[in-house]
Amino acid sequence: LAHTAVPIDAEGPQQEPLSIDVAVAGGDQPSSAIVVSSGLHGVEGFFGSAVQLAFLECLPSSWRPPAGMALILLHALNPFGFAWRRRFNEDNVDLNRNFLLPGERYSGSPPLCDAFRQAMMPRGRGRRVAPWSARIAQLALRHGMKAFWETLPVGQYDFPDWLFFGGHAPSAAGSALERFLPRLLEGVRDVVHLDFHTGLGRWSRCELLLSDAVGATHSAWWRSHFGARHVREPRAQTGSYQVRGGLGPWLAARFPACRYRFATAEFGTYSPSRVVRALVDELRLHTAIGLREPDHPVRRRLAEAFVPRNRQWRAAALTTGLSLVHQAVDILRQPAEAELVPAMA
Ligand SMILES: [Zn+2]
Repeated sequence: LAHTAVPIDAEGPQQEPLSIDVAVAGGDQPSSAIVVSSGLHGVEGFFGSAVQLAFLECLPSSWRPPAGMALILLHALNPFGFAWRRRFNEDNVDLNRNFLLPGERYSGSPPLCDAFRQAMMPRGRGRRVAPWSARIAQLALRHGMKAFWETLPVGQYDFPDWLFFGGHAPSAAGSALERFLPRLLEGVRDVVHLDFHTGLGRWSRCELLLSDAVGATHSAWWRSHFGARHVREPRAQTGSYQVRGGLGPWLAARFPACRYRFATAEFGTYSPSRVVRALVDELRLHTAIGLREPDHPVRRRLAEAFVPRNRQWRAAALTTGLSLVHQAVDILRQPAEAELVPAMA
């Protein structure tokens, strides 16, 4: 396993340097690659990283990827958030909204974004803050429950102090990928990329989320290999609003000569209300005290919201995560099969 650490210009709680770690197995000039990534959303990385480690641990020491295949592990794509137990990076940026395509602009937000921002995180010193449930109930009464899905997870580019902020420029993680991925994927024609996430969906269950940008051919491919009920189609996720800045579409556009098959492997934890509350509470703490106390109870609750301590959750999620990676390796092991599916036009 060849290992490279790609430094990020930010420090951890003990002033330690931070890096994205890249491990590669496989011979020279592979024609296909499995990519497994973790920690794009910082604190969620405790789980994705566990899947990566478990995968390496269960392999015999003599293991090599099948001929012509490379295995690429991207560990902690947001090392800052991972180290500080935040979902966002050093600039409060949600990295999975930051990978804009050529021609897209770092501006704009859903129509109700600012209303949600002000209602969910009231500002001003000494002002009495209504309990969380009251804040949510008021928004739901005024705008309807559907408005939450059409507003929050969509991302926004106007409020750097709020959740799901996509940034105003490409992130350090993006430039890092830009630097080392082209070398690793030179000559590669088929990629299967699993990007591990947590915090959305049913307890310990996994869904493979595909982006808006994938064509019908790609989504048929995912359904036939991983089972239709595990694959969630685009649009079903956020209603009619298109999410921008996802890592998957950016990679597919960056490597047009490749059949770049990317899915977000998303594992459910607690209810959306609990997860969003944990995010808002942590953002309020972050606004108040800045970069101190990574062990603060509020940050612990955030870690719990995304990677529960519950043993059953951990065992079930890890088993599913591992089998996804093994499945991906098995799929690419059969080169003839990959050829059957024409490249996306
Ligand atoms: Zn995530």
